[in-house]
Amino acid sequence: MNGLMMNVPLSITAILEHAERCNPDVEIVSVTRDNPRHRYTYREAFARVRQLADSMAQWGLAQGDCIATLAWNDYRHFETYYAAACSGYVCHTINPRLFPEQLVYIINHAADRYIFLDPDFVPLAEQLAAQCPTVQGWVVLSPEAQMPATSLPGAICYETLLAAGADSFVWPALDENAACALCYTSGTTGHPKGVLYSHRSTVLHAYATLMPDAMGLSHRDVVLPIVPMFHVNAWGTPYSCPMTGAKLVFPGNRMGDGATLATLINEEGVTMSAGVPTVWLALLAHLKGSGQRVDSLQRVIVGGAACPLSVMEDFDTYGVETRVGWGMTEMSPLGSVNTSPASREKYSDEAFAKVRLKAGRPIFGVEMKIVDDHGAELPRDGVAYGSLKVRGPWVCSSYFKLEDSDAHAEPGWFETGDVATIDPQGFMAITDRTKDVIKSGGEWISSIEVENVATDHPKVAEAAVIGQYHPKWSERPLLVVVRGPNGQDLTASEMLAWFDGRIAKWWTPEAVEFVDELPHTATGKVQKVALRELFKDFSFD
Ligand code: AMP
Repeated sequence: MNGLMMNVPLSITAILEHAERCNPDVEIVSVTRDNPRHRYTYREAFARVRQLADSMAQWGLAQGDCIATLAWNDYRHFETYYAAACSGYVCHTINPRLFPEQLVYIINHAADRYIFLDPDFVPLAEQLAAQCPTVQGWVVLSPEAQMPATSLPGAICYETLLAAGADSFVWPALDENAACALCYTSGTTGHPKGVLYSHRSTVLHAYATLMPDAMGLSHRDVVLPIVPMFHVNAWGTPYSCPMTGAKLVFPGNRMGDGATLATLINEEGVTMSAGVPTVWLALLAHLKGSGQRVDSLQRVIVGGAACPLSVMEDFDTYGVETRVGWGMTEMSPLGSVNTSPASREKYSDEAFAKVRLKAGRPIFGVEMKIVDDHGAELPRDGVAYGSLKVRGPWVCSSYFKLEDSDAHAEPGWFETGDVATIDPQGFMAITDRTKDVIKSGGEWISSIEVENVATDHPKVAEAAVIGQYHPKWSERPLLVVVRGPNGQDLTASEMLAWFDGRIAKWWTPEAVEFVDELPHTATGKVQKVALRELFKDFSFD
C-alpha cells in the first residue's frame, strides 16, 4: 500500500519561488569587475532571472540543451544558474583553469549552445571560439558601457540581453529527474568526465547541507562561498542559501585575496564561509600580518583537500570553528562533515587533534563503506583501510554520455578512488588515493600526463609523479626519475626546464628526485603506494 502524500517534484524552481515569497528582502552582495560592491535582494535577483529566462526563450533551445558559464562567483553567475536550470536547460559550469585543449574538449562534449563569460575570460574564449562549432553565442557578463572590444563571433552583452526580457515570464513545469547542471571533473584519468546533476539530486543535497551537523545554515547566517561556482556549484550554497534565507556574499575574482576576504567578512557580517585549504592560508596570513580580526565569522567549511592542523589551530585563536568536509564532484559534492569541535569537551587535547583531522561522519543520505582488493567489506574499526565506496541520491550513477561504458565494479556503489578508514563512531579518514591524480590548490593535476612528458626526455629511462604535502597548495607534484643509459649527467634543473612550454606552468613538478629503480607491481605498473612510502619524509622546504 502506498502512502497518501502529494508527489510534488523537487525542483530548483521551487527554491527560487520559496525565496521570492519568504525571503524577498535578504541580500546578495557581489564583487564584480564593474562594481566593487553590488548589492540587491532575492526579490530583485529572481525578477531579473525571469527576465533572463524570457530572453533565452527566444533562442529556440530544446530542454536539456547546455548553457555554459566561464565565470567567477557573483550575482550574474547566480542568475545564469537559475535562469538556465528553471527553464529546463542545463547550466554547465566550466573551470577556466583547465587548459585550452581541455576546455575545447568539454565544450564540444557537452555541445554547449551559449557560453556566459566574465570579461576576464574574453581573451581565453577568443582563442577557443573557432574550435567550438556548437556555440551560437558568447554572452559577456557586463553592462553595455563596460563591454570589452572582442572578436568573439556573436558576442552578446548580458545586461542588454536581460533588459529585453519580461519579468512576467512563467516557469515551465519540470520533471524532478530532469538534468539541471553539469560539471566536468579531471579528478580521473583520461579526458575530463561530466557529472550531470538533476533537480531532485540538487534539492536533496541542498536540504542535507543545511543540517546542523553539516553546514548548519539558517536565515541568521551570512554566507561567503569562496569555493568557486565552477567547482561543484560552490558546494551547493547558491541553492541552500535561498532555501533558508541566508544572505549571500560573492567575492568575484578576489577569492585568493586575503585582504578583500577579511573586508567582506567584516563589512557584511559573514558568519559562515567555505573553501579549500589554500584560500584559508591567504586569509590567515593577511589577518596575522594586519592584526585585523574576523569577529562575525563563526565557522568555516574546509574541503577539497586535507586541512592542515595549523590552519585549524590558527582559526581557533580567532574563535572560528573549522569543519572539515569531504566530498567529490561526483557527490554534488558533500559526503561527510567533521563537527567534532562542537563536542570538544569529550576529547583530550591529543585525541581532539587526531579526531578533528578526520574527514568526518557521513551526512544522512550518503552511505559509505571500505572494501579490500577483492571487494570484501572491511571492519569499521578505525584501523583497517581500503577503497572507499559511496552511494546515495546525490551520488552520480554514471558519467555524462558515458552511460554505456561505465561499469561499476559493484553495481549501485560509486568508487571514490580514495583510500580510507572508518572508526566505530562513523568518522571516516582519508589515508591515500588510488586515482593517479594530484590535487594542488583544489585543482587536479594528472600524474600520467606529467609522467608522459618526463619520459619523452631523451635522458630519462622511467619517471613517476606523486603528490607530496605542500604547506601552501596542500599537494604539489614530486617527480621521481630513473636516468637512462646516456643520462648520467641529467640534473634536476635540466629536467624541470624540459617542462617549459610542454605543460601548464602549475603542472610542472615542484622538485625532482633521482633513484636507481622504481618499485613495480607484478604486472609492471609503478607501485605508487610503495613510492609514497619511500618518500614519506620528503619535504619541499
Ligand atoms: P573534486 O571532485 O575536485 O571535488 O575532488 C574530490 C577529491 O578531493 C576526493 O575524492 C579526495 O581525493 C579529495 N578531497 C576532498 N575533500 C577532502 C578532504 N577533506 N580530505 C582529503 N581529501 C579530500
